Order: sequence, then structure tokens, then C-alpha cells
Amino acid sequence: MVKPVLVIGGGIAGIQASLDLAEQNIPVYLVDKSPSIGGKMAQLDKTFPTLDCASCILTPKMSAVLRNKNIKLIMYSEVQEVKGRAGEFKVKILKKPTYVDWDKCTGCGSCVEKCPYKAPDEFNLGLTTRKAIYILFPQAVPRKAVIDAEHCVRLNPPPNLRERAKGRPLCGVCSMVCPAKAIDYDMKPEVIELEVAAIIVATGMELYDARNIPEYGYGKYDNVYTHLEFERLVSATGPTRGEIIRRSDKKHPKRIAWIQCVGSRDVRFNHYCSAFCCMAATKQAILAKEHMPEVDCTIYYMDIRAFGKGFNEFVERAKEEFGIKYIRGRVVRIDEDPDTKNLILTYEDTSTSYLKKDEYDMVVLAVAIRPNRVVPPLPLDLNEDGFIKLKDPYLDPVSTTVEGIFVAGVAAGAKDIPDSVTEASAAAARAALIAKGHLEEVVSLADGGGLDG
Ligand SMILES: Cc1cc2nc3c(=O)[nH]c(=O)nc-3n(C[C@H](O)[C@H](O)[C@H](O)COP(=O)(O)OP(=O)(O)OC[C@H]3O[C@@H](n4cnc5c(N)ncnc54)[C@H](O)[C@@H]3O)c2cc1C
Repeated sequence: MVKPVLVIGGGIAGIQASLDLAEQNIPVYLVDKSPSIGGKMAQLDKTFPTLDCASCILTPKMSAVLRNKNIKLIMYSEVQEVKGRAGEFKVKILKKPTYVDWDKCTGCGSCVEKCPYKAPDEFNLGLTTRKAIYILFPQAVPRKAVIDAEHCVRLNPPPNLRERAKGRPLCGVCSMVCPAKAIDYDMKPEVIELEVAAIIVATGMELYDARNIPEYGYGKYDNVYTHLEFERLVSATGPTRGEIIRRSDKKHPKRIAWIQCVGSRDVRFNHYCSAFCCMAATKQAILAKEHMPEVDCTIYYMDIRAFGKGFNEFVERAKEEFGIKYIRGRVVRIDEDPDTKNLILTYEDTSTSYLKKDEYDMVVLAVAIRPNRVVPPLPLDLNEDGFIKLKDPYLDPVSTTVEGIFVAGVAAGAKDIPDSVTEASAAAARAALIAKGHLEEVVSLADGGGLDG
């Protein structure tokens, strides 16, 4: 008998692993803490080195997950407990209340349109606002609404309104306008119990908080952005519909600087390399040039790590075809001109050893990545950087230190999309053997291998 597999995290790695398993008729539970699958790739505009549109690659895969009868999506949920052993894990999952009955919700958006309350839009990294009831992004899968309990006045009335309401419920607009009668303000958290043969962890990454590096002024100076914010800024589905404009005055920048290795390869913060930032900065500078051919783009770097197929050619093309400048140097600090809100970079040009200054209208920081802080409560070993430890990085790069639990994508360390997808397929192949009952071909249970002693 074929047993199900649990995939935790629905970024590109979790999506690929789920599709591979489902193709072999293996039932899959795909759990994601967010209201939509897609992960970070859903926030990207284009991908290096081909400059393919990210959503043109990702959206069909997301739809394939939704359509596949072998895959059950468990959204807005997190794993609470895992017991058992390879072949027979017992899992408890906590499903947070969405306050919308997803069996009834058609994703029509009437509730979103009429909701009177706003909150920062997390998909656009706070560069704009969304409503208190929202659909994460237009291509969300599943395309269902969620009420953000913190910002919904009905679910979380501010004290002054609560007193004035004298016990009467506040607002209720979404419930009144929902044609499917899907709003359920009384929805409670739910615990789901599953038995699975194997687990694939694909919980991905978060960005290092650039405010911890005060010399770069992120969070203090309006026109300093992170590289992921720039992806949203340049994206046609982003907060400015793809117009690159400054936070301070909504004007197009004439000079943009990218600073590499912000919080990474720096012993004060994270010593490791984030692997994709050199290519991501090159891509973003090309995209800026495509949007505004007259813009001046400069990338400040320690060394360019163009290690993948076509990567070096991509950098050469950026220089020759698009006139992007690369300065080998460390930026010491950024200061803001209080009148123009322009940014003055002080840096050491490491090819001449001179200390120099230069002025830009906008600065983009390639901040380090970190493993997702909300690591599921699995008894997995982590490596010194907090990523999931591999059993053998060279000979067994998708096995964790627990038999039957595999890892794919950035959860095991920084990598780009192609490498995340390759790992996902490898992890799915290993998990499939266990799901089909060929445990002995994958794991050795000689040492017990169980989680409950
Ligand atoms: C600015 C920027 C530009 C980039 N550009 C490119 C590019 O052009 N080309 C390229 O190849 N790569 C690029 N990358 C890298 C690419 O984004 C990653 O390689 C890819 O997203 C990794 O996918 P993943 O599935 O491992 O993780 P993620 O995309 O991080 O997905 C993780 C998923 O797990 C879910 N999750 C997290 N924790 C839990 C939990 N506890 N329980 C349940 N679910 C959980 C999250 O909600 C998310 O859906 C870029 C990255 C950045 C930041």
C-alpha cells in the first residue's frame, strides 16, 4: 500500500517535491504557514540569467498543485508535533483560523474591495497597504480571502470603539457583501492529525534585518531599499506597477547603487555567502536599465561569484550591453543629504586602496538570507548557521540527521531556484521509495531511527 508524504513549505522547492510525488500517485499533504503557496519566487519579477518572467514559470506549477488530486493543501498552518519513525510518522498540524470558509469562498474579492480597514501589505514588504481582509496576491493559490485578526476592527476592536459599541458587534462589512456567505468571525484554530511515511522540509528563508547594520541607514533613510523590495518595485504586479520611483519624492532615480554582502560574509553578522545576490544584483541593474535606459547603475562588490551555467556571460553582458559599472570595494557608510534625500556612499575602492565618496538617488542592499525562524518542531539538527544539517553534504545532500525526513531548497542553505528544484526532485525520489514501502532501500533502522525513543 502506498502511504502519504508530508511536505512542509510551499515555495518552489516544496511545490516541485509535491508535483514529483503526486506524479507517482503518492498522496501528498502540502503544509504552508502562509495563505498561498509560492514562497519568495512569487515575489520576484524576473529570474537570472535568462531574464524569464518568474511568475510565468511559477504560476503554472502552482495551478498544477491545485488541480492535482493527489495533493492536499493545508494552508495557513504549521506543524506542531512529529512522532514515530520513517514509514510511520504521526504528525499534528495547527491550522490557524482564516475567518473565511474556504469551501464557500470563490475569491471574487468583493470583501476586499469594501473592507474599510488597512494594514501593511506583507507581500509587497510594507511598500504599500492592503485591506484587513485580503487575498495575498493576485495569482495566489488557492485564491481565497483571509481576515487579518490584528487589523480587523470586528475581531480586534480598539478600546475606544469597543466602549462606544456597548457590546454590539463592530463593522461586519465583509460579511454583508460576501455573495457566498463565507465569512465566519467565530472560526477557531483546528488541529489536524496525519500519518505519513516520510517528510520533506522545504521551509526556505527569510531576510536578515538590515536595521541591525546601522551604517547603511536602512529603515532610517527613505531611499535605501533591500533587494527583495527592489524586486517588488520593478515588478508589474508590484506597488508602483513596475515604475522605479523613490520613496521620498516619487521621482525616478537617475543613479542607483547596489551594495553586495550586506550582513553576509561579514563575521559581525553572518559569515556565509547568500549564493544568489551577485546574480540578483546584476539582474536588477539590467531590469533598471530596461525600464529607464538613461539610469546610471553601479554594483559595489567584494568579488563576483558567478559560478553557475551562463552566470559569467550574464555579468559580461551587463557590463558590455547595458553599461553597468562594477566597483570592487567595501562601502563603509551611507549618509543622507537631508535636502535632496540623496545618499552619499563612502567606500574603499579595493583595487586602488583609496577612500572615495559618491552620490546616488537610490541604494539597494543585497541583505543576507537566514533560515526561516519558524522552524517546524522537528528534532532535526541544525548546522552552525542555523540551516538544517545534512547527513552528508557531499554524498547524501537531501537527507537530514533523522531517517525518513528530507530537506530541499534554501532550508538547507543558500541557493538559487534551479538548485532548489534539483534538490526537491532528489528529496521526492527518496521519500517516494519509503511511501511505496521500500524503506530498507533508503534508510538503515539499525540504530532505532525513531523519534519517540
Ligand atoms: C531579491 C532576491 C532575488 C532573487 N532572484 C533570483 C533569481 O533571479 N533566480 C534564482 O534562481 N533565484 C533567485 N533568488 C533565490 C530564490 O528566491 C530562492 O532560491 C528560492 O525562493 C528558494 O525556494 P524555497 O522553496 O527553498 O524557499 P522559499 O521561497 O523561502 O519558500 C519557503 C516556503 O515555506 C513556507 N514556510 C516557511 N516556514 C514554514 C513553516 N514553519 N511551516 C509551513 N510553511 C513554512 C513559506 O511560507 C514559503 O511558502 C532570489 C532571492 C532574492 C531574495
